Amino acid sequence: MKTPSRRTRTVRAALTTDVEHRAVVPPIYLSSNYAFDGFGGKGRYDYSRSANPTRDQLGDALAALEEGVGAVVTSSGMGAISLVVHQQCKSGDLILAPHDCYGGTVRLFLALERQSAIRVRFVDFSDSAAYAEALTERPRLVWIETPSNPLLSITDLAQAIPAAKAVGATVAVDNTFLTPVWQQPFAYGADIVVHSTTKYLNGHSDVVGGVVISSTAALQEDMAWWANCLGLTGSAFDSYLTLRGLRTLHARLAVHASNAQVLAQALSAHPAVAAVHYPGITSHPQHALAARQQSGFGAMLSFELRGGVPAVEAFLSALACFTLAESLGGVESLVSHPATMTHAALAPDAKLRAGLVDGLLRLSVGIEDPADLLADVVAGLDRAHAAR
Ligand code: PLP
Repeated sequence: MKTPSRRTRTVRAALTTDVEHRAVVPPIYLSSNYAFDGFGGKGRYDYSRSANPTRDQLGDALAALEEGVGAVVTSSGMGAISLVVHQQCKSGDLILAPHDCYGGTVRLFLALERQSAIRVRFVDFSDSAAYAEALTERPRLVWIETPSNPLLSITDLAQAIPAAKAVGATVAVDNTFLTPVWQQPFAYGADIVVHSTTKYLNGHSDVVGGVVISSTAALQEDMAWWANCLGLTGSAFDSYLTLRGLRTLHARLAVHASNAQVLAQALSAHPAVAAVHYPGITSHPQHALAARQQSGFGAMLSFELRGGVPAVEAFLSALACFTLAESLGGVESLVSHPATMTHAALAPDAKLRAGLVDGLLRLSVGIEDPADLLADVVAGLDRAHAAR
């Protein structure tokens, strides 16, 4: 039989590996430590901060899904990002990052810069001239997040990655928004792929976790060393839940994306809306690039309401199928107000530069019945329109 597809391998990751009882679903190993087989008799596992069988099963599944060499499962997405920075950067090294990346990433890089640990420069990665100019400063690490959060701007991986490597930078891609199902950064030459597994990979909003996947054995070995040294590794229980969520990834994403497309069309047609940011509609300025580089358009979108905060309040006031909450990528639909929630840590001028206006709302489109989601959004838009 030919090698099973990525989808089949994801459903079947680590199934029937239990030799003792032949359990179909692998058991969870919660133990923090493992007995030596007599003096000097260390087995494969000794202490769960360093390595744990359940965490390894998740790491192997995620590395296989991204087609990387190995993975380090961390206790959060921010833990994964911290691990990459610690492993890659020495004092004074420059990190080049997109001006509109996740607010927590911005906060971490700026805080480390204040401590003189690193230097950071934020530029608009969709502006190729600005990006090329920034590369002349020879960054140690180029951080890519595409599509960006929350404006869904796309970085051209086929251009950006080779250009960064040509100046000697390591390239890390935060692939949280698309997952390897829709975008494979290693195919474009990325060195490292990072995820907040809190989002689509787990998919059920009941775990906070992360992962760093490496393209070479040497990088993987060093990442694992640093993760153990810093104590960043994820728990066995969270790993168990994430592996369970991962099995349904392909099925969930298909519904997420078709629901998002329905909502993006409806938002585009409504007079209460000034702009819709979703790569799956032809009005998105980088629609063609997204169609080329991604095998799906994702299920995150943002839109700007005319009328600022009063319109936002009216929209949010009576939603039935969208929960006002941070985070994304769970089966349930969420709405958030980036300027006051996910990106609240940004300074006012940084918010403006990143286009985070008061009327901007972000949707994480879930897998509910699209007719219910549509009715909810249209009723909200009608309220926002009346409140202007
Ligand atoms: N990367 C992206 C794109 C995110 O959206 C987030 C969180 O929202 C993170 C990283 C951080 O992940 P975590 O919240 O799991 O630490």
